[in-house]
Amino acid sequence: KRPVPSDIDISRSCVPKCIDRLAREIGLLSNEVELYGKTKAKVHLEAIDRLRIQPDGKYVVVTGITPTPLGEGKSTTTIGLVQALGAHLNNNVFACVRQPSQGPTFGIKGGAAGGGYSQVIPMEEFNLHLTGDIHAITAANNLVAAAIDARIFHEATQSDKALFNRLVPLSGGHRTFSPVQINRLKKLGIEKSDPSTLTEEEITRFARLDIDPESITWQRVLDTNDRFLRKITIGQSPTEKGYTRTAQFDITVASEIMAVLALTSSLEDMKHRLAKMVVATSRNGEPVTTEDLGVCGALTVLMRDAIKPNLMQTLEGNPVFVHAGPFANIAHGNSSILADKIALKLVGPEGFVVTEAGFGADIGMEKFFNIKCRYSGLRPHVVVLVATVRALKMHGGGPSVTAGMPLPKEYTEENLELVEKGFCNLRKQVENTKHFGVPVVVAVNAFKTDTEAELQLICKLAKEAGAFDAVQCTHWADGGAGAVELGKAVQKAAEAPSNFRFLYDTELPVVDKIRIIAQKIYGADEIELLPEAQHKVHLYTKQGFGNLPICMAKTHLSLSHDAEKKGAPTGFVLPVRDIRASVGAGFLYPLVGTMPTIPGLPTRPCFYDIDLEPETGEVIGLF
Ligand code: ADP
Repeated sequence: KRPVPSDIDISRSCVPKCIDRLAREIGLLSNEVELYGKTKAKVHLEAIDRLRIQPDGKYVVVTGITPTPLGEGKSTTTIGLVQALGAHLNNNVFACVRQPSQGPTFGIKGGAAGGGYSQVIPMEEFNLHLTGDIHAITAANNLVAAAIDARIFHEATQSDKALFNRLVPLSGGHRTFSPVQINRLKKLGIEKSDPSTLTEEEITRFARLDIDPESITWQRVLDTNDRFLRKITIGQSPTEKGYTRTAQFDITVASEIMAVLALTSSLEDMKHRLAKMVVATSRNGEPVTTEDLGVCGALTVLMRDAIKPNLMQTLEGNPVFVHAGPFANIAHGNSSILADKIALKLVGPEGFVVTEAGFGADIGMEKFFNIKCRYSGLRPHVVVLVATVRALKMHGGGPSVTAGMPLPKEYTEENLELVEKGFCNLRKQVENTKHFGVPVVVAVNAFKTDTEAELQLICKLAKEAGAFDAVQCTHWADGGAGAVELGKAVQKAAEAPSNFRFLYDTELPVVDKIRIIAQKIYGADEIELLPEAQHKVHLYTKQGFGNLPICMAKTHLSLSHDAEKKGAPTGFVLPVRDIRASVGAGFLYPLVGTMPTIPGLPTRPCFYDIDLEPETGEVIGLF
């Protein structure tokens, strides 16, 4: 078989069609498309209104078994499946994927445009900057962070009256409240619109947010794997008069604003969510929001372009939306609702939208259903569960694998016994999809060292385990042609009865919701709430956030909380260390173990290989 060139070489060898031509082909009007050069465009949300009466297409979500640290090909399969359903099987199609963080692109994992002959192109545009959405999030997030510390400083160094006079400055001889200040007054129950009529007590309540610095949950962010920012001390310049505090940076995609972008349904809704974000608790136990800080309008302005999905294309010319990329650890790891909604309208009732959920089915898919579908109201028709021989061998007891290192021989030579032993993970993940009542097609993503007997064994076992179908695919090596069987299976499954249901009712107590996920999806016997988590359950329930859906922050490398436990572990108690709230995005996230929220660079990062070719100006070394 011919060798497959590097991802960037494949991407570069294909001349993408002009993005305005693609936009026309898929039925967008010229006033709905904002071009960013020749290969990227933003699509206006008005397209949803225009297509309101058009019935939605079929909605397919791609997920996977518990992966190896190398990734098992969910993005590659998403693109390969769309290529197959498109020109090869003659359907209207759309892929909806996440925008990758630049952290991993320069760090360990490389890009996330898919791979081989199933990619989003141009991959260097996809992986770096795109249209600046992540930069907008960095700007918006850090504006909130700056507002918090500046506010604490100003409150600490000024009298109530001086603070009030500066917050409501004299203009033309009198003081007037801004709209955001009027909202704050309403929240405080002060029904006054003339600042000169506030009593002293009301002035104090209005002017002081009285943030407890220990309670601040809002962090600064940066889209770089800079491990030395995991814990820092801020305020060390003499100008801050000793108001230092320990703080941290997270990776930008872990910002709640990214999760808001992914879950919002309109500009109005985004504005509302950006205003509701809770950043800290006041000394008397009240949640302090971005609206209290007066920053929510500015956030909406910074995010007004980011809310429009980015149109790109596959190697075979199918449309792709690249929009939002919330961290799959502490957020829900799914691309945007808005992109899926526009795509479902554009493909029409017979077409297919293939969207991807990050990590394994126990995490990304569970959150796709319980969080994303709950907020979008969209109902999926088919789950595609990606499995690989190498991951099943690892679950069967194969040695651990490390990115950038050669694979041990267990993974490069036939070993049916390891595959069969590790199948328990795939079986459990198939069962997990069944909790939601949606038919599941297993896609066995073939690598060149896999043998026919190994691939066939997985398909046979998967069908016995209750998958609607299970097929091998070679879209990495062959493009859409390699996923035609998968495409046909998905078409059939989309006609099968789907009886979608959520796993839990959001009105249940927080602890019950966590227990249901732990027992039904992870296979835990019980959960154990450590003291900090117990405290948060009480706090958030009291603050009125107890009815939010749950977004578990758990390792993706095991069904359990312990990354070393492979296969389908049972008989464990899931420890919940702490719980945090993303009130604007709309979920509570229990922390199971410790989650790094900004990755580090390895000794030999990907950036060693990345350069600009002086002659042609082309990017080299991305993968
Ligand atoms: P995931 O989305 O599950 O993290 P990706 O689709 O990003 O996985 O794939 C991870 C890496 O594996 C990428 O570099 C991709 O090019 C590569 N890859 C995926 N499928 C295959 C395959 N069948 N053969 C060889 N490499 C593959």
